[in-house]
Amino acid sequence: MKETLLKAFGEVYGDTEGAKVFFAPGRVNLIGEHTDYNGGHVFPCALTIGTYGVARVRKDKKLRFYSMNFGHLGVIESGLDDLKPAKEAGWTNYPKGVMWAFKEKGYQIPFGLDILLNGNIPNGSGLSSSASVEVLTGYVLKEFFGFEVSNQDLALIGQFSENNFNGVNCGIMDQFAIAMGKKDHAIFLDTADLSYTYAPVKLEGMKLVIASSNKKRGLGDSKYNERRDECEMALAELQKVVDINGLGDLTQEQFEANKSAIKDIVRAKRAKHAVYENQRTIKAVKALEENDIAQFGQLMNESHISLRDDYEVTGAELDTLVEEAWKIDGVVGSRMTGAGFGGCTVSLVKDEAIDTFISKVGEAYRRKIGYKADFYVVEVGDGPRTL
Ligand code: ADP
Ligand code: MG
Repeated sequence: MKETLLKAFGEVYGDTEGAKVFFAPGRVNLIGEHTDYNGGHVFPCALTIGTYGVARVRKDKKLRFYSMNFGHLGVIESGLDDLKPAKEAGWTNYPKGVMWAFKEKGYQIPFGLDILLNGNIPNGSGLSSSASVEVLTGYVLKEFFGFEVSNQDLALIGQFSENNFNGVNCGIMDQFAIAMGKKDHAIFLDTADLSYTYAPVKLEGMKLVIASSNKKRGLGDSKYNERRDECEMALAELQKVVDINGLGDLTQEQFEANKSAIKDIVRAKRAKHAVYENQRTIKAVKALEENDIAQFGQLMNESHISLRDDYEVTGAELDTLVEEAWKIDGVVGSRMTGAGFGGCTVSLVKDEAIDTFISKVGEAYRRKIGYKADFYVVEVGDGPRTL
């Protein structure tokens, strides 16, 4: 892989002098969906698939970018003195955003870079290729310029840039899961205060299978912001009767006792999801620690039902993938993952059922939805690194 990437870099930029190869993973959230901006818990893990990058420092302030995933765009040039979001800059707005964010935080980037990317995660599917590019960029800057930033700082800088440079109102989960990734572990993260623990994901005789619906969603989706607004309003209503900072502070019992404060039935459903999903996430981590994988799978299924019926962020594509998965023997659990409205599902599937899973779910999906889904059998991997 490293040799192939260096060769590609040489072909694009003329030679490979000073070039180093880096990797940042993608991520999948196992459970705890739409809880991150509600002060609740999430439980994501980094994957062995992600974004490879080759980079070298230049002697001037020029920036040159090339992505093998967007090869038709060729080399895109800009400069360190020109770090402003621009439509025509396309995907380079992600790495440029991170450079901008470092500058905003007081770090001086002394020289420009030549960068080549090659990702093997699907873009725009909810496996956070954007956060992968951001964390990769931050890691590259740290490695070349000696910035004293922790991996957690890389996550915060990535989020800051995605929020403020790219205008995507994302929570901290994606960048955190990627920057803090650990092989065979998922991260139990409290988004209210960024406290976290690692929980071992020992999948004996089974694997994680990602199904990509190939229905594109943009996080800029008005629906995503609508859910955030609904939860914010529900929280304000609840705060009149209980002393909480976020929906994640409530137990199910406290929610049931106080929910009449929410004056709108739809808003109450949204808040119910945020509260119950957070509690499910806490239970799911416990189940995993006790090696009760069946219970973990059951909680994944319940998570999907709540996202489908109360939070209403699934849609025909994700529902088809999950409901077809549930029919198959050997599927321990299956749910949508990511923001929803398209994107991916994540399923825990016993080894002997994986082929059947891919063919049966794939076939039903094509029949019902009209185009194909893609499947990825993935493993839980480490965070950003130099190769
Ligand atoms: P997701 O993060 O769920 O994959 P987003 O829409 O947030 O979806 O991010 C996808 C965007 O990130 C792409 O359209 C592109 O701009 C950028 N991106 C991701 N991976 C790469 C890559 N390998 N090369 C260049 N740009 C990339
Ligand atoms: Mg993204």
